[in-house]
Amino acid sequence: MKEKLVVHTCCGVCMSYPRTILEDYDTVFYFYNPNIYPILEYERRRDEFINYAEKLGIKIYVAEEDNDLENWYNDIKGFENEPEKGARCSICFKHRMRKAFEYASSINAEYVATVMTVSPHKNSKIIEAIGNSLSDEYKKIKYLHFDFKKKEGFKKTNIIANEAGLYRQNYCGCEFSIR
Ligand code: SF4
Repeated sequence: MKEKLVVHTCCGVCMSYPRTILEDYDTVFYFYNPNIYPILEYERRRDEFINYAEKLGIKIYVAEEDNDLENWYNDIKGFENEPEKGARCSICFKHRMRKAFEYASSINAEYVATVMTVSPHKNSKIIEAIGNSLSDEYKKIKYLHFDFKKKEGFKKTNIIANEAGLYRQNYCGCEFSIR
């Protein structure tokens, strides 16, 4: 029997290549991204992810609650003016990955990973440290670190996403990343 893996997923594009190398696991791609602004952009990325997953026939979970946005703004409070790749982003990574650990805990999954490491704009070492610290908190769940951008992962992502005709955003997600 395959081990259960929950993969925090920010969008269909970033999932497109990582999913091809995770076939040894019983994988659920977990969408939780209250950081995405404005709401129309959020809905576009979410719906693109859902449609793409349906075409691929893969398991997904979309996590949405009424107070998600408020909680995210509370978490990053005081760091709004940080540059991209700074402290606000580390908080944002942890905020979203923590929910993936919570979900993994609820379905007795063995592992959590995230596709965010496929982006050349995101520091994989920081994401790895966050994943390991969450692993320490959620004792039964291990963080499985993949630096998906390596071995031409980012290039492969672009090729697969282009072939699939996926919508590609031109900013990370939050309102502060637009400017
Ligand atoms: S720039 Fe991206 S990673 Fe950083 S806080 Fe905004 S949405 Fe999160």
